[in-house]
Amino acid sequence: MKKLKTFFSVLIILTLFAGLFLTSRKGGKSIEETEFLFDTVCSITVFSRSDRQAAKDAFDEAAQLHRLSDFFDEISDVSKINKADASEAVKVDESIINMIEIANKINSYSDGAFDITLAPVSVLWKFDAENPIPPTDDEISAALKTSARENIKFDKKSGTVTKAFADTKIDLGAIAKGYAADRAAKILKDAGVKSAIIDFGGNIVTIGKNPKSPDGKWRIGLQTPFAQIGEYSKILKLDEAAIATSGSYQRSFEYEGKLYHHIIDPKTGHPASQSFDSVTITAESAALADALSTAFFVLGEENGKKLVENFGANLDIL
Ligand code: AMP
Ligand code: MG
Repeated sequence: MKKLKTFFSVLIILTLFAGLFLTSRKGGKSIEETEFLFDTVCSITVFSRSDRQAAKDAFDEAAQLHRLSDFFDEISDVSKINKADASEAVKVDESIINMIEIANKINSYSDGAFDITLAPVSVLWKFDAENPIPPTDDEISAALKTSARENIKFDKKSGTVTKAFADTKIDLGAIAKGYAADRAAKILKDAGVKSAIIDFGGNIVTIGKNPKSPDGKWRIGLQTPFAQIGEYSKILKLDEAAIATSGSYQRSFEYEGKLYHHIIDPKTGHPASQSFDSVTITAESAALADALSTAFFVLGEENGKKLVENFGANLDIL
């Protein structure tokens, strides 16, 4: 049953996520390794047989980060934090502390729009259920009570995380894929890989030049929201870059004719309501692009642009 669910998840995500394509005007073979991690399809493409091992090593690292950050895995570090009592110091892997540190920074720069402590609210929306029903206002306000950046503290020296309330829970779903893509890129670069492209569910890192394109640039297709996979509204032409897309089309359900999507506004506990359907951020790291794209979707165009400019990042709205 789990396998069947995973198979359908792969199909759904293949049809929903931001697209990526590589031009192939030049000869030579690209080698693509694919794995299902972070509840999405993840791929690493290299251009030489000798780079294959590095791609496998990068995937080992990504798989480890997935295990540590998986909200639904009882033995993940995130679950250890979520199950802990108030004031209990929970020892976690350095990567979890790093993600919380970036998340807290974006939380303060976004005036709380990006908030990993929204987990108790996110679970109420049950996006993975077969026939989800929106939660009631009472359920949302109860869940919002323990959500706030201040309720989660970390200590780098001891490698521990402490919560203000037992009910405070974190969800690193809006940053873990980007963080993992950065770590995978580091492993490839350290192994001497000169050209590669990492795509973890639309969180993309490009390394070096695209050996298949005459100008060496990478072409990243921005998926048209709610359209068929492979229908692109825009093609970004980039050198080395880190890119992330957040969109209301990526995970959602319809109830009584209304669409409810997975990016939640911490001020209301409801899906953020915007006039656009997707935002793509190009930033100095994929973790930053990942967090900024989610934050932008909550903030909207005006405040979102200010946030993105603060970090010297670029954006494309569809
Ligand atoms: P992304 O696809 O990177 O935009 O991340 C969306 C995921 O992050 C959701 O599926 C939730 O698990 C979580 N999430 C939803 N709203 C927020 C928010 N305002 N801040 C941080 N994480 C969120
Ligand atoms: Mg994100």
